Amino acid sequence: MKESKINLKGLTLTELENFFEEINEEKFRAKQMFNWLYHHKVDSFRKITTFTKTLKDRLNKIATIESLKLLDEQTSDNSKTIKYLFECSDGAKIESVLIPEANRLTLCISTQVGCPLDCKFCATGQMGYKRNLSTGEIIDQYLQISRVISEPITNIVYMGMGEPFLNYSNVINSMNIFSSELAFGISGKRVTVSTVGIPDKIKTFAQEPFRGKLAFSLHSVDEQIRSKIMPINKKFPFKQNIDALEYFYKSTKRKITFEYTLLKGINDQESDIKGIVKLSKRIPCKVNIIPFNSIAHTNPSGIAATLKPTSKEEFDFFVERLRSNNVTVFVRNTQGDDIEGACGQLAIKL
Ligand code: SAH
Repeated sequence: MKESKINLKGLTLTELENFFEEINEEKFRAKQMFNWLYHHKVDSFRKITTFTKTLKDRLNKIATIESLKLLDEQTSDNSKTIKYLFECSDGAKIESVLIPEANRLTLCISTQVGCPLDCKFCATGQMGYKRNLSTGEIIDQYLQISRVISEPITNIVYMGMGEPFLNYSNVINSMNIFSSELAFGISGKRVTVSTVGIPDKIKTFAQEPFRGKLAFSLHSVDEQIRSKIMPINKKFPFKQNIDALEYFYKSTKRKITFEYTLLKGINDQESDIKGIVKLSKRIPCKVNIIPFNSIAHTNPSGIAATLKPTSKEEFDFFVERLRSNNVTVFVRNTQGDDIEGACGQLAIKL
């Protein structure tokens, strides 16, 4: 029987050291391999000039360097946002979005094929769920996109398809690779992970040596409403998450970003403003208010089909009321909705 080859892309330095040790090669090869994979972005052993031919032949027999296949890219007319479609080696498809801003270039990456959480306002939730992405597949979104653009990517947000904290170890491994000086050298200040709120993972993330930023998809401060639009709230109620977020702030002194998509008549009322003000007094934070981007392209049913954006006037009023109560508010403008690449619009037929 043919044994399956091990994919070296996605292995951390320690994992590569174990690999080279197991095959009785010198330990320093691991560091070289790590550097070739992530710094030089090689996709075949042939290109590794510091390895002997014997070693390369040997590696070819037992290992691979797998890459995502770039199938398509679409550029938005109104914002220069680019959406990339990739195929994984098992045929699964995922998307990543590149967002140019004044003085940064942010890459929004996916962590799962689809998403199991079924948030009613999110297109990815409507497409269902297939599997977690491997560390290699998470990293490779960055590698493949870096190859086809001329500017360096400055920031990474884990805000594409999927729930990063349901794929915790692969996400952390990818962060450790992103931050390693031998690989990409991207500091935690430039990396944000967004979660629907899984309390024990928020606490574990607070203890990681990698000092990334945390965004929390809030969308309602009312347990019942939150459960209605984010069913995961029934399993991990908001209250447990507040405790975890407080713990996160106390241990790391990093402010939380709350993400809040305004949905007409659902979470845009006076009581919601009061709830956010109260929350912001308890947890040092900033609040990103996001206009609801259409998910009509997924043919939603049930509650999802009834959701509407808050009107421009009420949106501005909501933001102003928060600001006048000393909440730090940012309005996240819709970018790339013409290519269905804006927040919450990523979806592919599984
Ligand atoms: N599962 C994680 C990572 C995805 S982040 C999370 O939910 O946090 C995607 C961000 O876009 C989240 O803040 C999400 O709440 C927001 N979003 C989802 N659907 C949206 C929509 N239709 N319009 C605007 N923002 C949306």
